[in-house]
Amino acid sequence: MDNTKKDIILTGDRPTGNLHLGHYVGSIMNRLKFQSQGEYDKFYIMIADTQALTDNAERVDKVKNSIIQVAIDYLSAGIDPKKVTIFIQSMVPELFEMTSYFMNFVTVSRLQRNPTIKDEIKQRGFEKSIPIGFLNYPVSQAADILAFGTTIVPVGDDQLPMIEQTREIVASFNNIYKPSKQVFTLPKAYLPETEICRRLPGLDGKVKMSKSAGNAIYLKDDEKTVKEKIMSAYTDPNHIRVNDPGQIEGNIVFAYLDAFCKDEYFNKYLPDYKNLEELKQHYRKGGLGDIKVKLFLNNIIQDILRPIREKREYLSNHINDIYEMLFENSKNASIKAREVLNNMKEAMGINYYNLLK
Ligand code: ATP
Ligand code: MG
Repeated sequence: MDNTKKDIILTGDRPTGNLHLGHYVGSIMNRLKFQSQGEYDKFYIMIADTQALTDNAERVDKVKNSIIQVAIDYLSAGIDPKKVTIFIQSMVPELFEMTSYFMNFVTVSRLQRNPTIKDEIKQRGFEKSIPIGFLNYPVSQAADILAFGTTIVPVGDDQLPMIEQTREIVASFNNIYKPSKQVFTLPKAYLPETEICRRLPGLDGKVKMSKSAGNAIYLKDDEKTVKEKIMSAYTDPNHIRVNDPGQIEGNIVFAYLDAFCKDEYFNKYLPDYKNLEELKQHYRKGGLGDIKVKLFLNNIIQDILRPIREKREYLSNHINDIYEMLFENSKNASIKAREVLNNMKEAMGINYYNLLK
């Protein structure tokens, strides 16, 4: 047997808007790495529309229109639909039946302790009144992961509590139903190597870059918009004159350089410096202006986004083909999830067909 091909990879995004640079470094780069290595059995990417509705119940159009936007973002960033199954969550109803059973092993207080949920409740102003669906999304996400026998989940670090919750659900299931053969596989998170890429901060420097926080550079942003956003990024508020010493910590422009800069960019755009360390030293000492650093960052980000933008233009003229691909894949995902759901019901003793004599 070929042991290198046994992994099942699953990851996803909420269709609440277009994908941004946080997605790019937090998850898409690892997806592309797995895709090019090809050392997996199956690779799924789910567009989590049902999850998106948990905090967007009145904004159906936004969620609906974002499905195709996110799909175009994937394809333009280099995800190959021949190698990866991209599907739509709500078109796989098995996930929701599975969620219902899982909800019986998770308490409300456990969900309220989830640190990502806690942050998101604050961010969305849900403190006084939390939609049940929103509070429950980590349970629903466990079903998304477990329904496909997933072993690896490439994500940013805000998703670690969700993977932890998933593993707890598997333990509870095994403990209660003691299945005679294994139903669920324990998934592992797969994080970016570079720390800053696990939670890329937003342009405001306050919270992580996120669609809902309005602090993002999107993969689809045009050249002018990207430049304007970079020029407005939060730096060091005490670095007023060029000669003032500057601070790197908390400085968003340097955070983005940590995430995106490679030595070769210095050769190309800023040959006075050999590498990022030298640039940082000069900034710390004083004598290096924010504008120079921002223009350098802008050149790098434009280089990364240019080919993505060009592919997007072509894909935007092939929307129907993309929808057909998504619908076909959702059907296949549903067949796979049905197998795991049947095994689950068998283990729980609720496969009523067994009652027929
Ligand atoms: P929303 O604001 O609607 O929650 P989002 O911007 O947080 O949107 P999601 O769809 O929730 O994006 O996240 C999809 C994936 O991208 C997850 O794996 C998440 O960890 C990763 N991700 C999102 N934002 C970042 C970020 N700023 N840095 C690194 N990874 C991120
Ligand atoms: Mg999110």
